[in-house]
Formats: sequence, C-alpha cells, structure tokens
Amino acid sequence: AGEGATLGAAAPASDTNWLNGRKFSERYYALLAERMRLPVQAQREHIVETVRQSRVVVVQSETGSGKSTQIPAILLRELMREENPRSKRAKVVVTEPRRIAATSVAARVAEELDVELGKEVGYCIRFDDKSDQKLTRLKYVTDGMLLRETLSDPLLSEYSIVVVDEAHERSISTDVMLGILKRLIWSSRAGDLKLIVMSATLDISSLQTFFEGHAPLLKIPGRMYPVEINFEAKAVEDYVLACVDRAVSIHLRRSVEDGDILIFLTGEDEIETARRELNSAFAAPAFRDKPAIVLPCYAAMAPRSLQRVFEPAPALTRKIVIATTIAETSITIDGVVFVIDSGYAKQKIYHPGYRIESLLVREISKDQAKQRAGRAGRTKPGVCYRMYTETAFNELMPEAFIPEMRRSNLTAMVLQLRKLGITDLARFEYIDPPAPAMMMRALERLLHLRALESTGELTKDGLLMARLPLDPQFTRIILKSIQLNCSYEIVRIIAILNSGGAHKVFLHHMARPPGVVWRAKRRFEHDFSDHLMLLNVLLEYEAAKRHGDEHAWCHENCINARTLNGALDIFSQLQRVLDQNHLRLQSCGYIPVLDASGKGTERGRGLMAAQTNAQMLICRALAAGSFMQCAVRDSVERRKPKNGGGRGGSTPQLARYVTVCEDEHQLKIHRSTGTKADHPMMRCIIYEELAMSPELHLRTVSGVLTDWLIEEDVSNLVFRNQSFRTKAVRKAFRRSAAVTETTTTFSDEEMQQEGDASS
Ligand code: ADP
Repeated sequence: AGEGATLGAAAPASDTNWLNGRKFSERYYALLAERMRLPVQAQREHIVETVRQSRVVVVQSETGSGKSTQIPAILLRELMREENPRSKRAKVVVTEPRRIAATSVAARVAEELDVELGKEVGYCIRFDDKSDQKLTRLKYVTDGMLLRETLSDPLLSEYSIVVVDEAHERSISTDVMLGILKRLIWSSRAGDLKLIVMSATLDISSLQTFFEGHAPLLKIPGRMYPVEINFEAKAVEDYVLACVDRAVSIHLRRSVEDGDILIFLTGEDEIETARRELNSAFAAPAFRDKPAIVLPCYAAMAPRSLQRVFEPAPALTRKIVIATTIAETSITIDGVVFVIDSGYAKQKIYHPGYRIESLLVREISKDQAKQRAGRAGRTKPGVCYRMYTETAFNELMPEAFIPEMRRSNLTAMVLQLRKLGITDLARFEYIDPPAPAMMMRALERLLHLRALESTGELTKDGLLMARLPLDPQFTRIILKSIQLNCSYEIVRIIAILNSGGAHKVFLHHMARPPGVVWRAKRRFEHDFSDHLMLLNVLLEYEAAKRHGDEHAWCHENCINARTLNGALDIFSQLQRVLDQNHLRLQSCGYIPVLDASGKGTERGRGLMAAQTNAQMLICRALAAGSFMQCAVRDSVERRKPKNGGGRGGSTPQLARYVTVCEDEHQLKIHRSTGTKADHPMMRCIIYEELAMSPELHLRTVSGVLTDWLIEEDVSNLVFRNQSFRTKAVRKAFRRSAAVTETTTTFSDEEMQQEGDASS
C-alpha cells in the first residue's frame, strides 16, 4: 500500500502518489520500508496532533532520527488531506542554515516521495533555485533565502507551515527569522501560520525562553547506543596526522564488519591531506586483502561526490569518511561506529579591529564534542577517539559555542531589518541580543557604504543593496563600476569571489605534483592585482569555452572548472537582477596580458601599458567597496632571488603592510598572491580577507591609490582628520597620490627606484 495507508487510519490504501497522482515506483516502496524505521515515523500521530493544537512547536531529537526528511512531508500530507481548498494548495517551507543541507535533503525527500527534484519537492539557495512557483509544495531553502523572501512578502503569505530546521546552529539568519516569525504568528497571521522549530539534542533553553512557554516541546526518543570515549594521554602535535594514524590503526585492528569510520577535521585542505595520507598508508601490503574507501565530505563538494558518502561501501570494504562540522548534525552517515574527533572546527569570527570577518580554526565546544561522539552510536555501540587530552576537554573547551549573532559581522542583517521597516533595532526580539558595539559597527559600515542616510533612513543605493543577493560592499563596488564603465569586468570578479574565491580557482596543490600548480598560476598573475588575476582566469576560460576546448584548457592550467562554471552562473544571475533594476553592464575593454603572450617582453609591456587605464578603472571600482579593508606598505626587504631565477623584484611575503582601520596591525600578504610588493601601485592595497596560515595574512589584494579611498570616505570617518599612529599610514594619507590614473605606465627604472626608496 502507498503512504496514504501507512500515514493514518482514515486514508484509503492507494498506490498513486498523493503529490502528483502518478503510480508509485518500485524504488518508492524500497525507501518507504527504510524510512518507516526512523524514530520520527513512530511518533507521527503525536507530532500531527501537537502541531494541530499549537501555533509553535519545538521538536528535539537525536540527529539522524528523521526530523529534516520526514516531518515536513508528514505535515504537508496532513494539510493536503484537510477539506478546505486553501489546504489543498498548502505549501511547506523548511529552512536550513547550510546550503549543502538544503540541497541534499531536498534531493533525498524528492526521491523518497517519488517526485522529480524541482517539481513538487524543490530547493532554493542563493544563486541556485530548483523549485517551481506553481508546482512546488515542499521547499527546502537556506535561512538567508527565507529572510530575503520576507523582504518582498513580509507576511510569507505563500506558506502554511514554516519549519526552521537546525535551530541549535543559531545562525544569524535563523535567529532573525525566528524573531520575525514570532511577530507574524502572534499578530499579522495569527491563526493561519504554523511554526515548527527543530533542533538536535543540544542546549535549547534559550529557544524555549524565547517563546515564553507558548511552544510545547516535542522530544522524540532516538536510538542511542553507548559510546566509549577515549582521550589522548598527552597533547598531539599535529591533529591531522594523529587522526590519520588512529584511522589506520582501527582499520588494521578491527574487522571490516565492525563498522565504518568518521573523522572530523576543519576544512577541505586538511581533509585532502588526510585522504592522501590514508590512501598511501592503505597501499601497503598489510592492507592488500582489507580494502578501504576514503571519502571526503565538505560543503564545497559537487552534489554527486557528496552522494557517495551516503552509499554503503562495497562488500568487505570499510568506508572512511573525512568530514567537516557538516557531519555533526546537518548530514547523517549511516554505518559509522568509530568516530575520530580532531577537536577543532572552522568558525566565522569578526575582527572589529580589522573590520573584517574570517574563518578561523578554533577549539570546538563541549556540546559539539558530545555531538560528534554521538555519531558513533547510531546503529550499535560505538567508540569515539578524541585527539586531545581530558584536561583540554575539561579546561579549554567552552561549554557551548557562541551564537553567530554575537561574533559576526551584522551589516547584512541590519540592512535587512531596516528594509523590513524595523527601525528600532534595539527592540527587535532577539534570542540573544547582539553586542551593542557590533550593532554600532554594522550601522557605521552601512553609513560608509552609503546604504543609510545619517538619519538612519535607507538610501536608494541601500534599497538596491538589500535587493541584490550580495554582501552590501559588493553592491557598492558594482554601482561604482557602472559609473566608471567597467561593470562587465567587475561583475565577473565579484562572481568569482562569490563562487569560492581565490582559494577555489586553482586545483588543490595536493592534486598535482609540486610546482605545477604554482607555474600554471604564474601565467595569469598580475603585478598589482589578485582581482585582475582572477579576471584573467575567467576571461581565458570563457575564450576556451567558446572554442570548445575548456576541458583540456582546465587540465593544462590546473584550473577547477567547477568554481569557474559556478562563477559564470552567478555572473548571468547577477546580470539578470541588475537588468531588472535597469542597470546595464559595460566593458572598459580590459584584455588579459598573460605570461605566455610575453608579459616580460617589450611587446608585452606595450600591451600592458595600453591596458593601464582599464586596469586602473577596475581597481578604482574595487576600492569603492573595500575601502575599509585597506593597508599601507610599511617596508619592503629586497632579497636577491636564489640562483638568479624566479620572479623579479622582491617576494610579497617580505613586505609588511599596516592595516589602516582603527587598530593599525602589521601584516604580510598571503603567499598565494601574484602581486609584486615593490610595484608602485602596491604602496596601498585593499584586501578581501584575513587568512590564518599559520599567522594572520592579507589575502586577495589589489593596489589602489589613496586618493580613491579618500574620495569614497564620504562620511569622513576613516581617512581624513584622523591621527594615525603609524608613520607609513600618516605619510600615505598626507601626500596626494604620486601617480595619476590615466597616464601611468611603470618603467623598469621606476620599479627600481620604488624598491630602493622603500628598502
Ligand atoms: P535529522 O534531521 O533528524 O538529523 P534526517 O532526516 O536528516 O535526520 O536523516 C534521516 C535519515 O535519512 C538518516 O538515516 C540519513 O542517513 C538519511 N539520509 C538523509 N539524507 C540522505 C541522502 N541524501 N541520501 C541517503 N540517505 C539520506
């Protein structure tokens, strides 16, 4: 019988799909049997009844018990059974804090309900919409997307039920969404909107306080087997290698039938390193008759590769999954019995002193450590190996992690609240109110970006910033580029930065022999702009695509095609939105001058010089949005290249820069840059991010003129009338820029003098 029969006594047995009227497939029945075993299904009637009686319900259960995949479908099925015509057209929307959860759960549910993904069941995440306005009844979205939807439809009138999943993650968008939904439910849409808040079994006391006792808690008993915890006797030196060694020893000592292994590391680089180490260890003769497959699991992976993580390993083979925090609660991998926990995770941290946010490796919280251990006991008793000492656990790890609201850049959030007409930001209902200083920073930043009037009203540009699916600073850059007629190039650069950025354009250095990626990269480098390097790559890729030889081109140049295809996709979407807002793209005629065409030759220099104007326009537009992220060169040590080879000039790692904002820190540029620190344009730079590797570095930089920065600082808060502590910064902002934008070419002599002057 179909789902109708299993769902409730009243429904007649049926073999037609209640979503589209088609006959169920074989696959449907196979999956049905599987999912009816999930703990959530045993509580189906209880869930339906609780939701019927209350406007808000908090559901809490172990990860993997079927909350994300089953509950929304159960509720939709119930709604569609009701007799009123509105219910027949009911829609359910589910928010996920992570893109990867929204897409992978939607795909799974579409399969479970036997419909095509994007039809009755779909997803919608930034820059990727697989849903149908008319057909889709169950939609998985990122929390940020739903927040964006409230800007155009403040009542969320399309939906009958909103399910907020993974509420324990406490992302900013989830927190804000809950604040908005609370108001909606008890005022504007009282009576006809239901809210289900779902959470793993972490601390949710603040969530319950938030609903002031109006939200019954539905605890779904999960199956949890005991997990034996093992600590290291003393601190490990390298946690990646420690995890690898532990996995090898488990695989050696325990039979394959005992179960699979899940390793928690912090990011793609570590995961790829560990995968390589494991694969080379397993190549040893000792493992000839005991194969293992090693699978990575991180957010930036292609959906098809991610799906492999869910599939059972081939017979007599052990599956070893190496994952980031996404496998803590967002994704459940069946069959895991051994968990190896590095004790670390990447966290987005806002540095008020640098006014920038970066992803840093941090110790996880005790809650997270418990959650990770729990992943070992889902199907039978498991073992968790913690690659840290018990003392570190007790004394170093915080109890719970700090919600994003209290540690992140709030600019986009404040902009959206303003757009929603919430002017009194202090009185908005937050689960944990943000720190006043962080709010001030966000308001200040919006003033700088000219999104707000000094009275606090949204400007016309501010409205556009709220409308475009981009960080407000990128919209500012686009607006400037439209003025300067270089928007065609700028929107491309922004598309790459939003498709993974500089990190993801070139293949991982592990994927190719040493030096090969570095040499390939050199071809595209630009003397004073990493942004132009990214543009060079994208423009060349498009040319290769036109000739139909992009595969060979990517291979030859060590390029990650996925990142660039993603960028082109984002580019066309941005172009469409800009078009809708009557903003047309225009090119300044920039042409990449690559190493192969003789960057170092007379002809190449001629080409470069002819391009100066275009290059300067692009950097100038970039300066308009990033002017709060700038640094001034403090000193360049000139060091002769070894063996006379290598690149001319000094390497950028040797130049020290001082960040201009507020706290003046001395930092170096990340070694991945292609710029030359002694280039005249590199006196003052803007940077995209602060990278930790292993100390703080500036990453993805471009040279700018201080005049441009001063010009953008209309509110006069940063550069003028400010007493800078560092001499180099004072000097840079005192003298008017030495080079003018249209006539500059950089001769060898000038480069030489520049180097001498600053060493
Ligand atoms: P919860 O939300 O309670 O953490 P889920 O609904 O995400 O639980 O998962 C329920 C079950 O569905 C798990 O056993 C999980 O392995 C399985 N599952 C989820 N997504 C997929 C997928 N894309 N492919 C295969 N199995 C999946």
